Amino acid sequence: MAGFTKTDFIWMNGRLVGWNDAQVHVTAHALQYGTGVFEGMRSYDTPDGPAIFRLEPHMRRFIHSARFYELTIPYSLEDLCAASLEVIRTNRLENAYLRPLAFFDSHSFSVWPKDCPVSVAIIAVPGRAYIQGGPEAGVRVTVSTVRRIDPSTLPPFVKACGHYTNSVRAVQEAIRRGYDEALLLNTKGDVAEGSGENLFVVKNGTVITNDIDASILLGITRDSVLQIARDLGIPVTVRPISLMDVQTADELFFSGTAVEVTPIKEVDGRGYGEGKPGPITQRIQKTFFDAVHGRAPQYRSWLSYVGQLQRA
Ligand code: PMP
Repeated sequence: MAGFTKTDFIWMNGRLVGWNDAQVHVTAHALQYGTGVFEGMRSYDTPDGPAIFRLEPHMRRFIHSARFYELTIPYSLEDLCAASLEVIRTNRLENAYLRPLAFFDSHSFSVWPKDCPVSVAIIAVPGRAYIQGGPEAGVRVTVSTVRRIDPSTLPPFVKACGHYTNSVRAVQEAIRRGYDEALLLNTKGDVAEGSGENLFVVKNGTVITNDIDASILLGITRDSVLQIARDLGIPVTVRPISLMDVQTADELFFSGTAVEVTPIKEVDGRGYGEGKPGPITQRIQKTFFDAVHGRAPQYRSWLSYVGQLQRA
């Protein structure tokens, strides 16, 4: 997986600063304790110029994640959306990955983040495939020994920086075993999701995915895929997914901002789809890419066009 490519400007604490000026002190509370929240979004080229996919839902989740950790973001939803569009426009990006980040900054070593200032940044870099070749060829996955975080300890529906140490362990193990990505079970023993993506099972023509009670992050791509499947007339069921469901699936795929819609071609040596993405995965994937690139008029409301930005 290649590193990111630097861009000229980062939006930080209300203004655009040069990439090298977006600095944080080593004593930042978030660096000590993981007390930050973040988002991942993509912009895409469309016939009407670049647009961010599902900007508002991402920023709403960002604000909710922050609220959960009593992190007060001093910007409105509208401010954050406008700043995201500005970062894309100023850096002249088209297909980009955006990383909004809010965190408790430097003040004390106390675990209680009282009086720690809150810093907010929106970073954008040129977008690329999260797993090289993944969306076209599919990925190889292993069931992790690391269980997904549980609401009794860390709320899985909150996208907080510290929560991802768990995903890091799972993906490190997967790569060590020679796979591309991990599949995590939840503490009930059902399948939860990947280290940074939701899981879909296709069985007997029905698309199945799990819900918040499976300890997943409620993905915005997941929501988009559910909508697309319904619109295509494909039956959809939302219910817990067992390991048996995975083992007996006709097709499997991941959804997520980073992986977009990526077929799974193997789980621990068991192959799916005879070496190519299955027919239902392909139909959903095609409609998804039509939607993000502005080629499907019915999904235009999912796009926030960079060119339409009105400066407040
Ligand atoms: N699960 C986890 C743990 C994730 O980190 C992500 C990425 N945000 C997802 C699922 C997919 O969410 P989304 O479709 O909103 O990117």
